[in-house]
Amino acid sequence: MKIERPRGTRDFLPDEMERRREIEKRMRKIAESFGYREVATPTFEYLELFTRKSGEGIIEEMYVFKDKSGRDLALRPELTAPVMRMFVNECSVMPKPLRFYYFANCFRYERPQKGRYREFWQFGVELIGSESYLADAEVIILADKILKDVGVNFSLEIGHVGIMRYLLKPIGEDRASKVMRLIDKGDREGLESYLAEIRVNEDLRDKIFSLLELKGDESVIEEAKEIIDYDFGHLESLSALLRDVGVDFTLNLGIARGLDYYTGVVFECYAEGLGAQKQVCGGGSYELSSLFGGPVTPSTGFAIGFDRVCEACSVEAGEKSVVAVVSFKGLESQAFRVASMLRERGFTAVVDVMGRNLKKQMSFASEMGVKYAVILGPDEVKSGRVAIKNLETQEQVVVAEEELFSILQ
Ligand code: ATP
Ligand code: MG
Repeated sequence: MKIERPRGTRDFLPDEMERRREIEKRMRKIAESFGYREVATPTFEYLELFTRKSGEGIIEEMYVFKDKSGRDLALRPELTAPVMRMFVNECSVMPKPLRFYYFANCFRYERPQKGRYREFWQFGVELIGSESYLADAEVIILADKILKDVGVNFSLEIGHVGIMRYLLKPIGEDRASKVMRLIDKGDREGLESYLAEIRVNEDLRDKIFSLLELKGDESVIEEAKEIIDYDFGHLESLSALLRDVGVDFTLNLGIARGLDYYTGVVFECYAEGLGAQKQVCGGGSYELSSLFGGPVTPSTGFAIGFDRVCEACSVEAGEKSVVAVVSFKGLESQAFRVASMLRERGFTAVVDVMGRNLKKQMSFASEMGVKYAVILGPDEVKSGRVAIKNLETQEQVVVAEEELFSILQ
């Protein structure tokens, strides 16, 4: 009986893998051009790393298990908490700011559908140690640049959870977090009934809903000032800088973000053509270091949903040309030798490992879309020569072994 792969997971065949690697390569290159350096953390962590801020509720969305010594562990659902744990444990005395990036798989026990998997990949960055709007500006510019470079059509929306959290102060942190989650889910009815349940007065209720609706250009900041007495300086400076450098965005004060650790500016990118699972990037500023026993360290970052980007973008994998080394029976070691010479010169070369005759080797090479076959026959080998056949044009030439490379270019 066949064994299926687990629900919500995928297999990637070579064509798709080559394309994914090409996209990944471009993302890395841009992050590195901004001075970010790669980090890696374990695939599983102590469960508490993820529940300390978000509460036990998050367990439902995670792969949680006990190891043989009874420790509670979880497969990572995201990388910001692991990277900040690493920062606290290993890097808290390093000169700041720190610029880290990662590309890694994450696991969430979600209902699988298009664009939503139980194992998926994130490409993300953390800029650790600054609370300036300049740090938010840098990561937003970086996210914008990456998505543009891989050819995603997207819109960028920027909000600020500090404003809503300030408004929600009177109801206490736990209730505020619940409100933020309902806002994030876009569940207006749920929000309405929850606010009624906890007896929020009408004035606050109206303010919450008015703030949520504020979406547009910088004029929404003026409107927000009518609703709440808050210092909007950070958001104003950020908006002005992003306009100056030509980043296109909409302000949206209704962005809440699902994870609890955000403190200030938050942002999301939505790709065209992806349907419900259109959010391809989410980020913002947060403080997690002190929660993990380190010094208070304001940070900012984002995570790009790599799988959704792969679906939304136009990048094609580069064509790789393969040379087939085809040989008569008895010349196998010559075939291996010529193939390794080719590889040393940077070519991709394959030899027959099926014990096929020459004709079958040739037809397999054609089937695989190989452009050149290097043919080794007894006469050629004796005189130190090889035949090269272009399988597209059927042209064949015989050359000295050393001339092989110039013809294959
Ligand atoms: P969503 O609202 O779509 O569930 P999220 O708010 O849970 O997203 P984040 O935790 O901010 O997402 O993760 C960052 C990015 O990772 C998302 O913008 C999305 O592109 C991607 N992502 C999140 N969950 C999944 C998943 N289950 N499968 C594929 N990609 C995902
Ligand atoms: Mg989610």
